[in-house]
Amino acid sequence: MEKIMLSEIIQAVRGSYGFPADVEVKDISTDTRTITEGSLFIALKGANFDGHDFAAKAMELGAIAVVTERPVDGARCLIVDSTAQALLDAASYYRSKFDIPLVGITGSVGKTTTKEMIYSVLSRSFKTLKTEANHNNEVGMPKTLLELDESHQAAVIEMGMNHKGEISRMSTSCKPTICVITNIGVSHIENLGSQEGILKAKMEILDGASADAPLILCRDDRLLAKAEIYGGRKVWYYSVSKKDCDVYASDIAADSKGISFTIHYNREKLNARINCLGEHNVKNALAAFCAGAAAGMENEDIIAGLADFRPEGMRQNIISENGMTYVLDCYNAAPDSMKASLSVLSQISVRGRRFAVLGDMLELGKGAARYHRTVGEYVKASKTDVLLCFGKNSAYYIEGACDKGFDRENTKHFETHEELVEYLKANLKEGDAVLFKGSRGMKLEEVYEAIKQA
Ligand code: ATP
Ligand code: MG
Repeated sequence: MEKIMLSEIIQAVRGSYGFPADVEVKDISTDTRTITEGSLFIALKGANFDGHDFAAKAMELGAIAVVTERPVDGARCLIVDSTAQALLDAASYYRSKFDIPLVGITGSVGKTTTKEMIYSVLSRSFKTLKTEANHNNEVGMPKTLLELDESHQAAVIEMGMNHKGEISRMSTSCKPTICVITNIGVSHIENLGSQEGILKAKMEILDGASADAPLILCRDDRLLAKAEIYGGRKVWYYSVSKKDCDVYASDIAADSKGISFTIHYNREKLNARINCLGEHNVKNALAAFCAGAAAGMENEDIIAGLADFRPEGMRQNIISENGMTYVLDCYNAAPDSMKASLSVLSQISVRGRRFAVLGDMLELGKGAARYHRTVGEYVKASKTDVLLCFGKNSAYYIEGACDKGFDRENTKHFETHEELVEYLKANLKEGDAVLFKGSRGMKLEEVYEAIKQA
């Protein structure tokens, strides 16, 4: 953290206090397990803990003061209305000290993948700070901003949300100079009422953006394509199918390791390649291209950055083992990402059969059955040979698939991981490909681990 005085933070968080503030804050911490001497401790309240209970401990460990919502014995308190808002405000003030391009990303799916692609691109030209892992909420996002230092020349920040207002608060804190919205799906629709409600909540990314910050939107998304943009803001549209866009892709050709395509930009044609599969990743790459171009990068550097990108963690991990191909995509699931993963399975060349192991998509509210059915309808077109389902709502995948003519004989529903493991052990053969896809809570990676050990 760069030098910052307690008095500056007090002003930023509009806190009341009764002690000398002419002292340097060495770090801002929300966790006494990692607190260091000279830190300012912010007492956040979570579902299972209350930071106020640790305020005195923070002082013992060398905190110069604690930000709290009420006085706490044994602690030098800087009292605010909301400690959560204080963290956002402190990070916002700190971020203002850095005059660098900051790309903010939101969207229903593909945020982390796009963030990583943008990081690969920006890193070709700039020392870039990025959101680590999936720290995209109102705690992780400001903490990321507090990691900025003088060496950084750019930043890429992911913003996720469950409710309206969250993106607005995060955008106001991180003040993006370039904004990206990947798509408008149905995740968390139970909190936002409708897809229009989701669109509105995602558009809150503009609330803290500079007036000249371009907005990068996927034109292939039904709602983003017709979104109204006010105030003469520059919009960059990208597409994998429509030519009347600022950036579009043609000649999309997949092989077993990645996709080659042509990027059209400013009447130029550029040969690009990404080392991952699925048309959705071409879209993510186009978003990253736009972000790089908006940050002033040369085309060649952007293309080289895209080629550097590798999928991470449990997102679309393609593993070849014992003559079989596994696609592990167990990180999360929503209708759009389910279809994207099925399209990846269809692109994998196999000598044997394609198995789709699909777990429930969680948090879809009242429409859950319908959304599962819609994904099921897509199974036949994805060249899947065998559909295996796990979870309460996953039975609707089977209904949707059979509605579209998928043979019920080639479907099976499982109640437990153990049964699913037994089935796969007995039926998988060399040359087969298996997709594992479901919400995080379905833990399908454990099924993969179990059959791998067999
Ligand atoms: P979270 O809400 O958990 O932060 P996210 O928006 O960051 O999710 P990713 O983690 O990037 O999304 O991707 C999740 C899954 O969504 C991927 O594994 C992939 O299957 C799918 N996906 C990625 N990009 C897209 C896209 N542009 N359109 C549709 N599906 C996508
Ligand atoms: Mg994410």
